[in-house]
Amino acid sequence: MYPDRVVSGMRPTGAMHLGHYHGALTNWVKMQAEQPCLFFVADWHALTTHYDDPSVIERSTWDMLVDWLAAGIDPSQATLFVQSRVPEHAELHLLLSMATPLGWLERVPTYKDQIENLANKDLATYGFLGYPLLQAADVLIYRATQVPVGEDQVPHIEMMREIARRFNHLYGKEKGFEEKAQDAVKRLGSKRAKLYTELRTQFQRDGDDEALEQAKAMLDDAHSLSMIDRERLFGYLEGSRKLILVEPQAKLTASSKLPGLDGRKMSKSYGNAIALREDPAAVTRKIRTMPTDPARVRRTDAGDPARCPVWQFHQVYSDNATQEWAVKGCQSAGIGCIECKQPVIDAIIKEQEPMHERAQPYLDDPSLVRAIVADGNDAARKLAQETMRDVREAMGLSYS
Ligand code: SF4
Repeated sequence: MYPDRVVSGMRPTGAMHLGHYHGALTNWVKMQAEQPCLFFVADWHALTTHYDDPSVIERSTWDMLVDWLAAGIDPSQATLFVQSRVPEHAELHLLLSMATPLGWLERVPTYKDQIENLANKDLATYGFLGYPLLQAADVLIYRATQVPVGEDQVPHIEMMREIARRFNHLYGKEKGFEEKAQDAVKRLGSKRAKLYTELRTQFQRDGDDEALEQAKAMLDDAHSLSMIDRERLFGYLEGSRKLILVEPQAKLTASSKLPGLDGRKMSKSYGNAIALREDPAAVTRKIRTMPTDPARVRRTDAGDPARCPVWQFHQVYSDNATQEWAVKGCQSAGIGCIECKQPVIDAIIKEQEPMHERAQPYLDDPSLVRAIVADGNDAARKLAQETMRDVREAMGLSYS
């Protein structure tokens, strides 16, 4: 099978904040050490909702990349690139659009939600309807095996899988496939070839999923096989088609527990966010002026942490002893709210210190970020071109 690979992107539509950090970036940092990762700036996706005012996109792109680097994304581990610098995404999007039923796009749940949430924008556009298909192209073009998503994005991944399956079904039929697959079986060596044939029969005759998994594991270990033979044998296990596009899996990520300063979801548009690289004085001011339990009108009034957004910050930032101190102090009016907020202020400033440090060289010399992205664009493009070669060939567009 194709190697494990993670793909994920973010839309450059404004500054990154601590909600992004705790919701996605900490997860990216963890994943980059575990498997090959491609992280991209989804500037074309930003245009689907900001087509009438794209000025924010270019500035946010560079700011966002500095934020990623500040958060600990390491370009020596992960590939960072900009979607529009890899035009193969657009080509695959176009080609996939030829065979994607309109109903698949219309039924994506977030489509209607977004139209309702962004009622001030005219989103009755062809581009906006097609954005889940562009997302599919973003992932399928790298034959990604995993896509980190929240619960609400799972239907998008399901649609990507359906698109890949449909593509392989329509275009994976290779001339002389049966003979080529049987030649590939022989190249496994007699012992493995026998086992492969038995497992394939067990799966195709009895629907034995375990046999299928065992055969796939065996192919993964057959290092002497060429990539193309391996893909033929994967396809041959399940039918008579070559696998050109890989069906990705959703890698479920826990959503951020960090709310905005007013207890709603953290969002720049609500004015309740703390930027990823916020100035320490601004952090102090923002937390000090955060609303608390409305029952604590006077210092002597007891409160309830469950009704206070500061408590949710404690749950992210404070150790058990501090949390206990805050709960007891709040419920007994033993501490005041300013006192209660101080450990949160200290923890955020401490968390952001290394981010400021990591960001500084890139702020001093922006050409460093441009060089990282130029390398990332090249590396991503190379992978995208490999897939597009197979896609064009399968669709009769290689003209060779
Ligand atoms: S003491 Fe702490 S938890 Fe209680 S209301 Fe004040 S800030 Fe919130």
